[in-house]
Amino acid sequence: MSAPLYIKIKDEDNVAIAVNEIKAGTEVMDGITAAQDIPQAHKIALRDIPKGGEIVRYGVVLGYALDEIKKGSWINEHMLELPTPPDVDSMEYGTNIVTDLPEPPVKTWEGYRNPWGGPAGTRNILGISTTVQCVTGVLNVAVEKMRRELLPKYPNVDDIVPVNHPYGCGVAINAPEAKVPIRILRNLAKHPNFGGQLMVVALGCEKMTVDMLIDEADISPENVIVLQEEKGFDAMINALMEMAEKKLKILNERKRETLPLSELLVGMQCGGSDAFSGVTANPSAGYAADMLVQGGATVMFSEVTEVRDGVYLLAHRCVSEEVEKKLAAEMKWYDNYLLNGEVDRSANPTPGNKKGGLANIVEKAMGSIAKSGTSPIVEVLSPGEKPSKHGLIYAATPASDIVCGPCQLASGIGLQVFMTGRGTPYGLAIAPVIKVCSRNDMKEQWPDLIDVNAGPIATGEATIPEIGTELFNEIIDVASGRKQSFAEKYKLHNDLCIFNPAPIT
Ligand code: CA
Repeated sequence: MSAPLYIKIKDEDNVAIAVNEIKAGTEVMDGITAAQDIPQAHKIALRDIPKGGEIVRYGVVLGYALDEIKKGSWINEHMLELPTPPDVDSMEYGTNIVTDLPEPPVKTWEGYRNPWGGPAGTRNILGISTTVQCVTGVLNVAVEKMRRELLPKYPNVDDIVPVNHPYGCGVAINAPEAKVPIRILRNLAKHPNFGGQLMVVALGCEKMTVDMLIDEADISPENVIVLQEEKGFDAMINALMEMAEKKLKILNERKRETLPLSELLVGMQCGGSDAFSGVTANPSAGYAADMLVQGGATVMFSEVTEVRDGVYLLAHRCVSEEVEKKLAAEMKWYDNYLLNGEVDRSANPTPGNKKGGLANIVEKAMGSIAKSGTSPIVEVLSPGEKPSKHGLIYAATPASDIVCGPCQLASGIGLQVFMTGRGTPYGLAIAPVIKVCSRNDMKEQWPDLIDVNAGPIATGEATIPEIGTELFNEIIDVASGRKQSFAEKYKLHNDLCIFNPAPIT
């Protein structure tokens, strides 16, 4: 069987995407000849489209033709006008509740039970929280020394991770939206991978005081070091080393145990997407998500600007009016946030997304939503909130990879699955990241960075359930510590860019 030239998703679509570059003059299908070279992953018109006519992919209007488009033409991002975003005030909920989900091959994994409750840990890490960026320099010196001198003595501990961030002072700490970064940092301090051990480094004069970061009951010299109370640099390093060693001793006693999937919380994200993401990598992730949910696990997906144009599809999957209302409220909050910055959701696609054939945010959204699979949405969270339910959760966060990551970590994910078309070496220090690519060429280019290749779906060599099951198994193996993802193996750790919608002073 020869590989297909194009991928068309729904019968009503009047465009298809090129599996590989299609040369001008190639007969793509009966009666349709490429009018010019169509770059890989870009759209070709399957019918004549009049000026102002709908351009339809995924059965959804991506936009309206700015000029007449002839059958066989390349449709690039300059040729269509963005439709108005869907209204969120009158969405229907509960009209698409799918309960027929694929059975997972296993229903248990090996994790660390978490003394704080909530989802179990996938790794055993000494996490060192900070109230303010000012302490970062000293803490980093200390952590380097801890990794060199202490970590080898405690072989059951995977790593020592400073939770460095740009927040904490010089910020409007009483602004209403300051609750977002504060909530993220509070929840990060108690991440499931930190195994119930709190260690906090403060400066002493910052706006974000220790009691904003941890509970009153946890504030003690056992858990908190204030640099301004130490006599010089050496004393600071000694205090940090001493506290770290006490915590490492306790963490070293943690053991993995066989746990039900209900104790696993997995995050889904995509970045550097292309037009294949929505037909290969994201639907495979969606299939794995459905298997996880069917097995009792919790799966989280996010990225507001990348669901905004298909939000009604999510509303149809919300289990109650309450969940749908929270979804609508989060969309409105973000619309307003963008409006205050004098932009709209069209600010989302990147030059790389466009080069990868994504014409606009509607097309990107339709592909992005595929990673949520088909299961019902049981809860909607504000950025950095922790889930209270099991199943599929929508956690409203920015789509920016490096901002979504910390938000999902704050919500307690033990592992993130990351889909990419263009390629990014993205990774997190607090939880492993599994990379899934959308095209065979990407896997060939980065064989030692991409963990799972969904490209064979585009060439007809594999199916979505096959790659989805492979990904499910990879998730279980990495979560259980039997395997490391490439990003984890090479320690590719992005900075923790904390979402701060409040003013900086
Ligand atoms: Ca992203």
